[in-house]
Amino acid sequence: MDIYSKKKRSEIMSKISGKETKPEIVVRKYLHSNGFRFRKNDKRLPGKPDILLPKYKTAILVHGCFWHGHECKAGKLPETRKEFWINKISSTKKRDLRNIKQLKELGWIVIVIWQCEVKTKANQEMRLPQLVKQLKSLQIMDLN
Ligand SMILES: [Zn+2]
Repeated sequence: MDIYSKKKRSEIMSKISGKETKPEIVVRKYLHSNGFRFRKNDKRLPGKPDILLPKYKTAILVHGCFWHGHECKAGKLPETRKEFWINKISSTKKRDLRNIKQLKELGWIVIVIWQCEVKTKANQEMRLPQLVKQLKSLQIMDLN
């Protein structure tokens, strides 16, 4: 039995999933302020990528560390109902891999950004300029 009620557990999980910090919004804001234009959650593509940059033929997936099973502190599973969580997270991971594979087959470049990479200001200052650099290098490749 879970030591928490269903409601309490879902409260805890929503915190873990980072609904407050909304990492995809952090990434979108940064890209937007740097002049990038993108589509959000395009339903026509596998997994409805969080950010789609058609000009760069790039899909950015912003993954919550808990739900998508990142091997970091935030991806640690709760001790209670461990088997339930293992099954749940592993099916999410399988789905992620399938979506990424399909996106690549459709000719998209896929970049995954983990929640923990943009969690703190310090992390953002590392990861986000790196992302922009990554995107710009793609464009250069195209021009050549
Ligand atoms: Zn993580």
